[in-house]
Amino acid sequence: MADEHTHDHDDEHDDDHGEHDHDHEDDAEARKEFEEAQAEAIRRRALSQIRQYPDVALRMKAHEVSDFNGELVQLVERMQILMHDAQGVGLAATQLGMLRRVFVFEPDETGAKAVVNPRLIDPSEEKETDEEGCLSLREVRVPVERSLRVTLEGKDPAGEDVRYELEGLDARVVQHEVDHLDGVLIIDRTDAEHRKQALGTLRPQPVLR
Ligand SMILES: [Zn+2]
Repeated sequence: MADEHTHDHDDEHDDDHGEHDHDHEDDAEARKEFEEAQAEAIRRRALSQIRQYPDVALRMKAHEVSDFNGELVQLVERMQILMHDAQGVGLAATQLGMLRRVFVFEPDETGAKAVVNPRLIDPSEEKETDEEGCLSLREVRVPVERSLRVTLEGKDPAGEDVRYELEGLDARVVQHEVDHLDGVLIIDRTDAEHRKQALGTLRPQPVLR
């Protein structure tokens, strides 16, 4: 899932040296531009490793994981790095073409979490509609209705049971990621008008030769 927030790396360098102020501000501005360009390059490189619509893997149902081995740990580490670099808030294994029931997300300040064989328990009757993006759907953003609260159960990559009680954005993110593991995308969950608009945006542009 794509990030809803703008990352604003404000320069906190506060200068008070009279006539040099202007130069320092220019320096700070140039450095900020450089850092933004660098983050954008990193984001693009990460996105190039994430399957993009209409890649068939995005429509496939992932399989339950039965082997909790080193390969799974490596996959999860790679997914966490890609999610971070792509400035997303969640990433499912199917988005890398790996048909396994695994996703990563970042529910709080304690860092990224991986959930294997996730199950959504008791999604609340109370629902909320909000805009969602997706790392596999480029610039598309569409309104999607989700349960406001949900309990997520599954395993961590070591095979230990995990359980998260989630609400708001976190609940939204895990519902989005579990959808990925079933081959379901936000364009399937939105209303007809927004789906039509999104498909127009996603239509491959003609190549001029
Ligand atoms: Zn997504």
